[in-house]
Amino acid sequence: MAGGTVHIVGAGLAGLSAAVGLVGTGREIVLHELARHAGGRCRSYFEPALGLTIDNGNHLLLSANRAALAFLKAVGSEGKLVGPDHAEFAFADLASGERWSLRPNDGPVPWWIFFKSRRVPGTRAANYLSLAKLLRANDDRPIGDIINCAGALYDRLARPVLLAALNTDPPKASSRLAGAVLRETLLKGGLATRPLVAEEGLGPVFIDPALAFLDRNGVQLGFRHQLRRLEFLDDRVHALDFGEDVIKLGPADTAILALPASVVSLLAPNLPTPTKFRAIVNAHFKVDPPKSQPKIMGVITGTVEWLFAFPGRLSPTIIAADRWIEAPREELATKIWDDIAAITGARRELPPWIIIKERRATFAALPDENAKRPPAETAWRNLLLAGDWTATGLPATIEGAIRSGNRAAHLARVNGDARG
Ligand SMILES: Cc1cc2nc3c(=O)[nH]c(=O)nc-3n(C[C@H](O)[C@H](O)[C@H](O)COP(=O)(O)OP(=O)(O)OC[C@H]3O[C@@H](n4cnc5c(N)ncnc54)[C@H](O)[C@@H]3O)c2cc1C
Repeated sequence: MAGGTVHIVGAGLAGLSAAVGLVGTGREIVLHELARHAGGRCRSYFEPALGLTIDNGNHLLLSANRAALAFLKAVGSEGKLVGPDHAEFAFADLASGERWSLRPNDGPVPWWIFFKSRRVPGTRAANYLSLAKLLRANDDRPIGDIINCAGALYDRLARPVLLAALNTDPPKASSRLAGAVLRETLLKGGLATRPLVAEEGLGPVFIDPALAFLDRNGVQLGFRHQLRRLEFLDDRVHALDFGEDVIKLGPADTAILALPASVVSLLAPNLPTPTKFRAIVNAHFKVDPPKSQPKIMGVITGTVEWLFAFPGRLSPTIIAADRWIEAPREELATKIWDDIAAITGARRELPPWIIIKERRATFAALPDENAKRPPAETAWRNLLLAGDWTATGLPATIEGAIRSGNRAAHLARVNGDARG
């Protein structure tokens, strides 16, 4: 086939978006995935303990996530993310009992900070200007070196937002990544900051439509197909070794590794990759949320950071949750439910629950780790990388993963044309 074959290894969002980006370019496309299913860290599954299909973790997107929205459009899933028409984030502070809504105005001039009813209680408009320092940081220093990580604005806005974006304790986290997030979202105004959720589930919204699109377009999908070794010859990858079969790469063929950083570091030992990771813990409680419960709520001074309300289920998230990874599940469920009972007024007895601990949810967004992220191109001219941990300029997010796949697809096209 003109343009050769592109072998994409890993069917998380990075691999899926690379495949979607290559459809229609005249290449043969083959997607290889270790698991029985696609989606990687962004997936839905049937949980027998609850009798419900749930996601491995709550995923929040923002309306500024243009690559994610374009991906959904390309695979025929446009409009399936749900959220309010205007940015609005409900918060509850468990220690003080206060409740408020943060309501940035639509446009880029942030007049909302001058209105007490729209900003965080206990803050003044001038406080918000201090966050602008993150936009100006040239070198990548810890956030705590640049802004004051204390006080009402930090505790009630900067901390929850940065923690959600970076999955890393903000004072130590990368100011460059924080600046990139703020530049693409809050700085553009409320219309770029509308929260969006896959209410039907990550599988039905992202993964299943992408697989159906790829299948319709002749992409070969191979599950339970684990890449075990790369064979290198001079400046090329000569073969992909899957154990039971070895695929030789022709002169016009390309391989895209859309794999976790830890796997790439084993397959290509000389490639730099992030080596530190952070956990996320999600709980799912089978209970009807009160009608007044917002779809997403930020929780201050609780065990949980965010509480998502789905039909028939309340799902809290603990971010940068490494301290809870070894905790007994029963103890953790009780502790988390105490937060929910305080927020919703629910009875203290636990409803049916499940806790999902994702030990390596994302790379740690520390300046040193950010510096280790490699670009899509490698020293081997037919080997490309994709994944949320590659040098996307963004933290490990759906948006970053999809952009990395788009970039790898673009390079596969351009480089393949040059070689073919
Ligand atoms: C609990 C949780 C909550 C999150 N919350 C958010 C959020 O709110 N907002 C947001 O934007 N992002 C969030 N993220 C991050 C987001 O899920 C990831 O950034 C994104 O899914 C990463 O996609 P990826 O394709 O880069 O990697 P992965 O999803 O890790 O995909 C890699 C794929 O490679 C496969 N694989 C591994 N080894 C091999 C092998 N040897 N051969 C073949 N295949 C192999 C894996 O099975 C997997 O399918 C969250 C992540 C987690 C875990």
